[in-house]
Amino acid sequence: KSTGGKPKFRHPRGLYVLFSAEMWERFSYYGMRAILILFMTTDAAQEGLGLTTETAGAVYGLYTASVYLMTLPGGWLADNIFGQRKAVFYGGVLIMIGHLILAIPGSPMIFFTGLAFVALGTGLLKGNISTLVGELYENEDGAKRDAGFSIFYMGINLGSFVGQILVPLLAEYNWHLGFGLAAVGMLLGLISYKFFAPKYLGDIGMVPKVKQLEKTGKTNKKGTYAIVAFVLVLLVVLQFTGSIDVTTATGIAQALGLIIVVITMGYFLNILFNGGLSVPEKKKVSVIFILFVGIAIFWSGFEQAASSLNLFARDFTDRFIGGWEMPAGMLQSFNSGFIIIFAPIVGAIWVKLAARNINIRTPFKFAVGLILLGLGFWVMVEAAHVAASGAKAGMFALILTYFLHSIGELTISPVGLSATSKLSPRKYLGQMMGIWFVGAALGNLIAGLIGGNFDPENVLEMPNIFLNVVWVSVGAGLIFFAASPFIKKWMGDVT
Ligand code: GLN
Repeated sequence: KSTGGKPKFRHPRGLYVLFSAEMWERFSYYGMRAILILFMTTDAAQEGLGLTTETAGAVYGLYTASVYLMTLPGGWLADNIFGQRKAVFYGGVLIMIGHLILAIPGSPMIFFTGLAFVALGTGLLKGNISTLVGELYENEDGAKRDAGFSIFYMGINLGSFVGQILVPLLAEYNWHLGFGLAAVGMLLGLISYKFFAPKYLGDIGMVPKVKQLEKTGKTNKKGTYAIVAFVLVLLVVLQFTGSIDVTTATGIAQALGLIIVVITMGYFLNILFNGGLSVPEKKKVSVIFILFVGIAIFWSGFEQAASSLNLFARDFTDRFIGGWEMPAGMLQSFNSGFIIIFAPIVGAIWVKLAARNINIRTPFKFAVGLILLGLGFWVMVEAAHVAASGAKAGMFALILTYFLHSIGELTISPVGLSATSKLSPRKYLGQMMGIWFVGAALGNLIAGLIGGNFDPENVLEMPNIFLNVVWVSVGAGLIFFAASPFIKKWMGDVT
């Protein structure tokens, strides 16, 4: 198949076409996300939506979770109907329309409609564009492909970095100008994709997968129905006993969290018992489940960057540099900035260690990532104590937190993704990669719900909110650490 470049000595040119499209998409996604909760919680008198923090946190969680959940139907549509190439393009168009709708000042309903467009569009674009990156390389080209993905990850963070600087800056003048800029970013991505993809991507992703691949693994129908019925009954019971209230945004978010947890567990049980797997395969699938739990916990802390930490930046952080006050949302850009700087360094460290025959295994890396996440939140506990005393915390606290979280992201996220793909039985590969995004969805949802507990009127509670996150993440890290020898055994030949 033609990939349009010379894959022998350098990366195929198509990589840079996808790099650019994804860079602009992330520019719009993270740029907009940097002002999202700030806009929702700002009074209507200052042109905000005037929602309570609780509702805004729930909407943030629902929106960011949907973005990642939608990659499941997005992947299915590409595999069965459109092919990846068209799916990416249509996705970009929906995203742009979504941001344009957000740029219209108006009622919350108009605003939520815009969010829905962005979520649907991202579902079509995000997973499928990564699939296209993978297809640029021949199957034997494992190391090259990994290097390609590292370059692609740079594009992601370059776009995020610039978006998180420019969109919050513009939003200082007018929120909707900020949303509009996100639309312009996506438009630039679409133009370059439309123009260069036919030239440099050859024919990859043109034909839906279903027409070329072996049969995918099927889970049994009865199991699926049983799980769905169980979730429904559970929700009805919880609603009537008053444990959740699905007529509120928070209740919907809690219900979605429950649905994700139960369905994922059911899915794994179904594969383990009815999936026709050998014992070593079952062990590997169990490890994927354990990694899923780890990554979901990680994102549920990490993705508070744009919920609770963003509110903390706005309300309790001294953001003055000389006479200029940095917009709160702009602090978001430190994460992508750190990733751009440290991704090559962390990568080189693994290679150096491997050269000395020290191979740090996946569960150990998960332990490190989770503990770094906890340390970051511990810094926030201290900062929250300062805020509780009535002073403002220095910007350094958030920057240090983002630094620790970024190094955590680098030890956990790329590693987990590649381990999942290697551990998965071939016929379930697509579904297992989907599970990876479900982990991100669940994490984002919880991050929004935790952010909703943030109450600017009740500063004294704040250290506790962050302290709970410290306990959970450090605790999970220690469990990974202790379980590491067993997990290693179950991973078998996968390193
Ligand atoms: N920042 C990365 C991206 O946008 C990873 C985010 C995630 O998987 N939660 O692709």
